[in-house]
Amino acid sequence: MVRELDHWIDGRSVPRGTQRALAVEGPFERSVVARVALGEAGHVELAVRAARAAARGWADRAPVDRGRLLGEVARRLRERADEFVSVEVEETGKLVAEMRGLLNVSADYFEYYGGVVRALFGETIDLGAGDHAFTSREPYGVVGMITPWNGPLTQASRGLAAALAAGNTVVVKPSELTSSTTLMLARLCEEVGVPAGVVNVVLGTGPEVGAALVDHPDVRLVAFTGSVGTGRTVAAGAAHRLVPTILELGGKSANVVFADADLDRAVAGALAICTGAGQQCAALSRLLLQDEIHDAVLARVAERMRARTPGERLAPMTTEAQFEKVVGYFDVAAREGARLVTGGHAVTGDLAAGRYVEPTVYADVTPKMRIFQEEIFGPVLAVTRFATEDEAVALANDSDYGLVASVWTADSARALRVASRIDAGQVIVNGGRTGIETPFGGYKSSGVGREKGFESLRWYTQLKTTVVST
Ligand code: NAD
Repeated sequence: MVRELDHWIDGRSVPRGTQRALAVEGPFERSVVARVALGEAGHVELAVRAARAAARGWADRAPVDRGRLLGEVARRLRERADEFVSVEVEETGKLVAEMRGLLNVSADYFEYYGGVVRALFGETIDLGAGDHAFTSREPYGVVGMITPWNGPLTQASRGLAAALAAGNTVVVKPSELTSSTTLMLARLCEEVGVPAGVVNVVLGTGPEVGAALVDHPDVRLVAFTGSVGTGRTVAAGAAHRLVPTILELGGKSANVVFADADLDRAVAGALAICTGAGQQCAALSRLLLQDEIHDAVLARVAERMRARTPGERLAPMTTEAQFEKVVGYFDVAAREGARLVTGGHAVTGDLAAGRYVEPTVYADVTPKMRIFQEEIFGPVLAVTRFATEDEAVALANDSDYGLVASVWTADSARALRVASRIDAGQVIVNGGRTGIETPFGGYKSSGVGREKGFESLRWYTQLKTTVVST
């Protein structure tokens, strides 16, 4: 069945009538799974107007009341997990088990921000002679939120939960290629009692709907997740109006393995490149191996990668453009002279109708190569050897990106030293578990601001200082 998707504005679906729609082809068979309304500036205008009208009432509610509603969103999301999972799997191609995990993470965001917003306090400042000041964190009003195709439900949940908990109203523009679950989520918010106009979804392309949202004078904060190139355009538009941005952009994260590491765990950790078939901003796509263990770890990683059979254990590329991009990098790598250890082709045979590529490992990758520097966004590992700690740090930092890094070593002093020297917003030592509690965001070109954790609430609020004389 082909899903017909229309905008969700002010608590109701806006039928597209005779307007244009985009036929979206799914990743498994490349057959049409959804027809998505292609909105225009007029739809953005309607949605922002609704969000603005709802803003005062929503901001005036006690945090505990907003939090209760968000907790209810989490409960319903878990209740309807099967429906959300099957729709998002159909559109993105994610493995069902991975998507189940992501559904839970999405629900966790609503639970977490619904609770923790009650601890969003200001401070008091004694000015002497009976005068004092206090600070309070206030919502911006209308937030314009733009999300990518690679994790539609989690990205929308991450931003929405924090923005709504903080008292903002939101207009979301999901990727036109994977819009379904964001719409379902907006409807679900409404079902649990979030007032009409607090969450709105306008469907359509970036240059049309996304740009209109960034340019709208009543949007007071722009929260963007996507690529660096689009991030620059969005930031320039927001800068022109002098509104703040949260920019969660791409990565080319380094995974550094020292010779003294627990190699079983490090090898297992390197396989994280296969999660979401590598279509993850936080993918650890550069594997840096110390000389002494380079050959042995490379062989073990390659063997485990080969075992990730596309279809069963490796998802397809979500979009046609992404499929072509990854296949294009196979050619780039060959031209650049990287040593192909395994993979390196699109999948042929029974799965050829889908957008599958082989899990791929390149060795002898040098910093000058494009596959070392550019975000491929596929199940492709670029492996580079190093001799010393200094060299490892220099290689890890030889990137315009700075989203995440990972370090494996048994020497805890070295772990902390290296973690502090790597320019990345998040460094994971020995495979430590990250969660929604851990602030996440980029150094360098990987972005501005932080999502996740309590920190996110600070980015979705503005600080007011009130000075009082007695
Ligand atoms: P993209 O930049 O192409 O698109 C992202 C969103 O921006 C889409 O909704 C798109 O329609 C919209 N857009 C496009 N042009 C626009 C414009 N001119 N004005 C306003 N909006 C516009 O990114 P993508 O290909 O959808 O997503 C993949 C990228 O997202 C990767 O680089 C990945 O690393 C990044 N990402 C980052 C995070 C993070 O948290 N840091 C999370 C997920 C994905």
